[in-house]
Amino acid sequence: MAHIKLENVVKRFGDVVAVKDFNLEIEDKEFVVFLGPSGCGKTTTLRLIAGLENPEEGDIFIDGHRVNDLSPADRDIAFVFQFYALYPHLSVYNNIAFPLKAVKVSKSEIDTQVKRVAEILQISDMLDRKPNVLSGGEMQRVALGRAMVRQPKVYLLDEPMANLDTKIRIDTRAEIKRLQHEIGATTIFVTHDQVEAMSLADRIAVIHQGLLQQIGTPYEVYNKPESLFVAGFMGMPTMNLLEADLGSQEGESVLCLSHTDVCFRLSPERQACISSATRENGLVFGIRPEHITAASESDEQRILAHVHLVEPLGPVNILDIRLGTHPETQEPILLRVRTHPTFQATVGDTIWLDFDEGEMHLFDRGTERAVWGK
Ligand code: ATP
Repeated sequence: MAHIKLENVVKRFGDVVAVKDFNLEIEDKEFVVFLGPSGCGKTTTLRLIAGLENPEEGDIFIDGHRVNDLSPADRDIAFVFQFYALYPHLSVYNNIAFPLKAVKVSKSEIDTQVKRVAEILQISDMLDRKPNVLSGGEMQRVALGRAMVRQPKVYLLDEPMANLDTKIRIDTRAEIKRLQHEIGATTIFVTHDQVEAMSLADRIAVIHQGLLQQIGTPYEVYNKPESLFVAGFMGMPTMNLLEADLGSQEGESVLCLSHTDVCFRLSPERQACISSATRENGLVFGIRPEHITAASESDEQRILAHVHLVEPLGPVNILDIRLGTHPETQEPILLRVRTHPTFQATVGDTIWLDFDEGEMHLFDRGTERAVWGK
């Protein structure tokens, strides 16, 4: 059993506030991924949970017990920084056995545990080898075995696959997911790779500049971003985010993309969500490239636009569509649209766009929080 709770946790390094008023609860057996750009505070938060750093403010609880004053060794946590950190002079068997030898477990018990872990990780036939003859993926599994042999309450994994090539990374990702499910230990995994986060996590904690931006299932953080940062961070390509204004057309309220002819009628419910403070702060409209349909035939309902760039990605094409020109900077106002690779379009073509209005998002430019979304 391991339920983890961070309450108003703050960590500073001199003038840098690495973790800002962090509040998070992680359920027993949950797989939570900390996701965010470099320097956002992921590792520091992990180190605070492990006891390798002390918070200036706030409390950390494991299973309801405040652990601020407990040493790392007393927290029953296994911390895996990089799977490569193996002892080169020891065999795979002795690398895995090392944590148990350190706490003087009996020889026969060590043997049982090492073999149990090796079987789960499918490295039983490598126990006599030294790390230098193993592949990257195998070394990772040995380092994971060394963490697993202790059967801790919590696993903390910090970018464990950072230096692996793509294929091994994908295989190991599947392995880690399977293992976590089998072992059922609470796990926190740090990465800046959103695909890794989406594929592994029960819930993703998106962190930016030391602040927890959103905690939710992969579906929630992708489809219901609560802030501009999350909207702009998740997805490849990311969500289209364009400045927008409120207006009226034929007596009806509309939301228009600034400096373009693109306007959408606003339902009374959506209109009611836009406070006067938000109107003053300004609006940012969001829609994902896959929620706009491109057509080569005109239609009254569709919006006319021009192709600025075509990016063939294999299974899909991404079209950059020009909606207008910024009057001050003269920069093109662009929108990315995902199309089937068979959709014929070349630079300069006129096409027609259909926006899925159920998938539109609106953000307050000042607070950067979502006004409404899907
Ligand atoms: P990365 O993905 O690059 O590892 P991260 O999200 O894990 O980044 P942290 O390593 O937690 O980020 O760092 C958060 C901030 O705290 C950064 O600005 C970093 O420079 C600073 N920081 C971290 N550790 C220390 C330290 N020991 N002394 C001073 N500043 C630190």
